[in-house]
Amino acid sequence: MATRDPIRMFRDYLRRKGLRCTAERDEIVQALQRTSHHFRVEDVVADLAARGSSASRATVYRTVPLLVEAGLLCVGDALPGGEFTYEFVHGRDHHDHLCCLRCHERIEFAERGIELLQIDVARHHGYRLVGHHLDLFGICPKCQALEQGGG
Ligand SMILES: [Zn+2]
Ligand SMILES: [Zn+2]
Repeated sequence: MATRDPIRMFRDYLRRKGLRCTAERDEIVQALQRTSHHFRVEDVVADLAARGSSASRATVYRTVPLLVEAGLLCVGDALPGGEFTYEFVHGRDHHDHLCCLRCHERIEFAERGIELLQIDVARHHGYRLVGHHLDLFGICPKCQALEQGGG
């Protein structure tokens, strides 16, 4: 399945929202393509600074929520101090995770009912939801079988 050009995808999103497409915003999307799998906003700021980009730290921080809403980024883990990690997903289908606490297996799932409930919760608190990160923790079937075998 061909993924769309992320710069074009973001420009389309900005136009739909009535926001300006700028060289700085293009440079931020280019920087995302160079990021490691899970990154912090400061990593993008440092990457752009090292390349002499004119995108300021404030611009990067303001642009990240737009990138989440445009479906280019998803929010990863919350870090101590209230920061988050992000993952560049360039429009791949959204999924959440089920994680085994024993063997650290992570499986992906998508459940429409859960997705819709989250939108309701955000709305209830007056938020416009731009993204979410959901991990369910448990013991996988293999590890449960080992438990029963006395392992
Ligand atoms: Zn989800
Ligand atoms: Zn397991």
